[in-house]
Formats: sequence, C-alpha cells, structure tokens
Amino acid sequence: MTVRRVALVTGGSRGIGSAVALELGRRGFDVAVNYNNSAAAAQEVCDRIAAFGVCARPFKADVGDLSQVEVLFRQVEAELAPVSVLVNNAGITRDNLLMRMKTEEWDRVLAANLNSVFYCTREAIRGMAKARWGRIVSLASVVALIGNVGQANYSASKAGIIGFSKSVAREYASRGVTVNVVAPGFIETDMTGVLKENVKEALLKQIPMGRMGAPEDVARAVAFFASDESAYLTGQVLAIDGGMTMC
Ligand code: NAP
Repeated sequence: MTVRRVALVTGGSRGIGSAVALELGRRGFDVAVNYNNSAAAAQEVCDRIAAFGVCARPFKADVGDLSQVEVLFRQVEAELAPVSVLVNNAGITRDNLLMRMKTEEWDRVLAANLNSVFYCTREAIRGMAKARWGRIVSLASVVALIGNVGQANYSASKAGIIGFSKSVAREYASRGVTVNVVAPGFIETDMTGVLKENVKEALLKQIPMGRMGAPEDVARAVAFFASDESAYLTGQVLAIDGGMTMC
C-alpha cells in the first residue's frame, strides 16, 4: 500500500473486531480501534498493531448513540486522519422467543447492530466520496439469510444491514467507494461462548466443515474487501461459514 490509510473498526476490542483490526494493521493501515466497555482490551489490540509499524489508537464510543458517533469521527480525524476504511463490526445479541421478546431487547439490538451502521456509514461516506476511494465492510450473519429461532431481533438487524449496504453500494459505486457485507456463520468468540453445549453440538452438525470458524477466518475476508484487490466488487454478501448456508 503506497498511501497511508485509516481504518476504523467498530467493536475492535474483542472477538472478530480485534482480529480485523490486527489484520488491517498487519496490511499497513493505521487503525482506529473503537470500543464501548473494554478499554484495556482495546489498548492491548492497539499495542499489538503498533508492532507492525503503523499507528493505532483506541476510541471509546457507543456506536448505537448518534451523538457519540459524531464525536468518534471528529476524534479519529483529529488524531489520525479521515476514515478511508470503515468496518461496521460492533454487535450484540439479546435472544428470546418472539412471544417473550421485550421491546427493550428489540430496541437495544436494532440500535447497536443496525442504527450504528447507518450512523457510522453516513459519517464516513462524505470523505470517502471526496477522496474517490473508500471501503465499507459490515458484519451481518448467516441468520440474516436463513433466520434463527430466538433471534428475530438479531436476524432483522443483520438483514437490515444487507439491504442498507446494497442501497449505499449503488449510490456510491461511481465514486470509488465499495460497500460489502460479510456474513459469518458460527465463529469462536465471547458471543458464541455463552451458548449451551447441546446448542453448539446441534450447530456443528449443520456445518459441512464440522468446526467453528476462527475470528481470523473472517478477518482475512474483511481485509480483502478493504483492499485495492476488491476494487470491482460492491454490494456483495460473502458468507464465511464452513459451508453452512451455501446460498
Ligand atoms: P463479541 O465477541 O461479543 O464482541 C463484540 C464487540 O462489539 C466488542 O468489541 C464490543 O466492545 C463491541 N460492541 C458491542 N456493542 C457496542 C457498541 N454499542 N458500541 C461499540 N462497540 C460495541 O462479538 P463477535 O462474535 O466478535 O461479533 C462481532 C460481529 O460479528 C458482530 O456484529 C456479530 O453480530 C457478528 N457475528 C458474529 C458471529 C459469531 O459466531 N461470533 C456470527 C455472525 C455474526 P466492548 O467489549 O468494548 O463493549
């Protein structure tokens, strides 16, 4: 990479986000590591990225909150540079069967998973269009494609990311900005660590490769979408799921 570019990874403190932040740092990007609660973990990710000889800084913000997102982008621009690569990774689950799902569980998941993508993408897009280069990669999930019992809120938020991304991809395709989605299957992180053993076993039976994915499996695909190599790809959804969906 000849030009120095800044990548902002939302929820870069743990799990898939931290693997993405590290992979982008390894490939020469300066990295803004956003976190909400895990300050020490975010700092550790930055320290590891700095070993690649690039800049990395932690930035606290709840990306489901518009005013915090606005401050986040101002801080990243002041401390690093305008964002060239946005990875919308932050996400939460609040699982429940529909009959028992509280409005608060719906609202929190939609705010953290989908409103955040709208807020961050809208903040990032102007600078990218002006620079005539930008990459937006958002983390959906295979459940956006096939649904999942107990995850109506989460599936809706992730399906929303896909529709949103395809629309923005069309709006900015002529400006050198690509907008793509990765849809992970069953990846080994804190998010899936809370699942009961019998649930994990049932999920593993649905995966032709017979194993969970690693955060790095997802990070490499995100890094490809963030690179110049993917210049002619936009509005795509790539499932990274060991063959689970094949759709
Ligand atoms: P994780 O281990 O639970 O980590 C979630 C990350 O998101 C943490 O860094 C957390 O930061 C951050 N975060 C959550 N809410 C936030 C908010 N409001 N503002 C800023 N940061 C926030 O999750 P993961 O498994 O790595 O998942 C990453 C993404 O992949 C999510 O979008 C998830 O839905 C998606 N995904 C995961 C899987 C899987 O199997 N793991 C499958 C499909 C899709 P703090 O700790 O600092 O709060």
